[in-house]
Amino acid sequence: MGSSPRVRFAPSPTGSLHVGGARTALFNWLYARAKGGSFVLRIEDTDAERSTGESAASIIRDLEALGLSWDEGPGCGGECGPYFQSERLELYRAAAERLLADGKAYRSFQTEEERALVRQARERGESAEAEARYTELDRDEEARRMDAGEPFAVVFRVEPGETVVHDLVRGEVRFRNEDLGDFVIVKSDGRASYNFAVVVDDAAMRIDPVLRGEDHLSNTPRQILLYRALGYAVPQFGHVSMILGPDKTRLSKRHGSVSVQHFLAAGIVPEALVNYLALLGWGAGDDREFFTLEELVGAFSLDRVARTAATFDPAKLEWMNGRYLADLPDEQRGELVHAFLQSRGLREMGQEVSPARARELAALVGDRMKTVPMFLDYAGFFFEESITPSAEDIEGVLVKRAVHTDLCALARRLDAVEPWNDAGVETAFRDFAEESELKLRDIVGPARLAVSGKRQSPGMFESITLLGKERSVSRLCAFGTAHPPRADES
Ligand code: GLU
Repeated sequence: MGSSPRVRFAPSPTGSLHVGGARTALFNWLYARAKGGSFVLRIEDTDAERSTGESAASIIRDLEALGLSWDEGPGCGGECGPYFQSERLELYRAAAERLLADGKAYRSFQTEEERALVRQARERGESAEAEARYTELDRDEEARRMDAGEPFAVVFRVEPGETVVHDLVRGEVRFRNEDLGDFVIVKSDGRASYNFAVVVDDAAMRIDPVLRGEDHLSNTPRQILLYRALGYAVPQFGHVSMILGPDKTRLSKRHGSVSVQHFLAAGIVPEALVNYLALLGWGAGDDREFFTLEELVGAFSLDRVARTAATFDPAKLEWMNGRYLADLPDEQRGELVHAFLQSRGLREMGQEVSPARARELAALVGDRMKTVPMFLDYAGFFFEESITPSAEDIEGVLVKRAVHTDLCALARRLDAVEPWNDAGVETAFRDFAEESELKLRDIVGPARLAVSGKRQSPGMFESITLLGKERSVSRLCAFGTAHPPRADES
């Protein structure tokens, strides 16, 4: 490995970026930044049926949202481009020709179905016994079929022996070549297989080390054999353990949505997501949990990447996100809330919510919100036209506690508050409590239900001030009229 390593993230654009992929991208990014190397993004879109441009675009957007910028790749180019595999087919063809000419690969004129049978036999462990191999023809027969224009796949010949992976994370892993068996590198439709394209590209892009998920470990011996056959220097490999769901099976869609987009849309801030992902399989060696991207660069090293699988815990992510939100200055929290309200198309009294108003409301909710959408749990009543508390809450507040507050009278008092501010609202509440010989909380409880529809809300006086005189008075009065004081029970 040279002094300035080059690493890459090589997603297949067949869906959205999930947390496992994002973690692989993050570890590569951190490795490059920590070592002063380069981070390359390569889109592995050789599978034309499953790859889509939208998926590639969304993966790119998500990486950008997480702040994982690349030095070479789509958008910025670089000296080893193009960075879409679909634009590199000529390189694969040339490399396959070279292996054929050197006798390290051969042509198979079998059908896809016949080859699938060979593969399956091998997967069942029948390789040695049943001589499960692709059919290799003699030169004349091969030439005759080629002249006749028959389609063929290019198969790599695996010589007997053993291939050892010196994994940067897992140590030495040995594979018997007989178990690998010959494998297709160019399919009969002319497309390069994953193992082949990845080696041609990683070699051409001078990637070293190759850092990726453990699910690719079984591909690595085949890739090492290809590096050697093509005369390329074999890079180092590091396979990062899988991420498990709460039930300890590999994290997948079965565990609910695990895409980066899902978490960002659900109000997880990118900084918190990146911080959480870094802890999935890596730790600084002490109990420290909070890191900025910058701090991660300083702290990251491969030797603290765990061999054991990490468990994805959405509750912990939410907790961490809450801490991030709480630490944000009001200004930034306001921006997040503003963007969120816009994305939901929420308006207040028919008006679009201004950034300043969003900031005011975000400050009111403060660190109660653990995710951005939780803002609505506390401040949703600013966006509702009328308030309808549940019968259960009405029962809880008004009946069980036998409160006899005349909310219409409170409303009249609030109507007279001048100037309209927190202090004026609070004084009106306190004066009213004194006059009606009630405890303040016996007024605040019903008033909260009347203006917010809930039994819990941010500070009552501040909420009422921000809701405005007109709406507060009319909500209190409407509720007071529907639920008049229960003087008979006092
Ligand atoms: N394109 C492969 C994938 O998305 C990754 C290839 C690699 O990292 O070697 O799983």
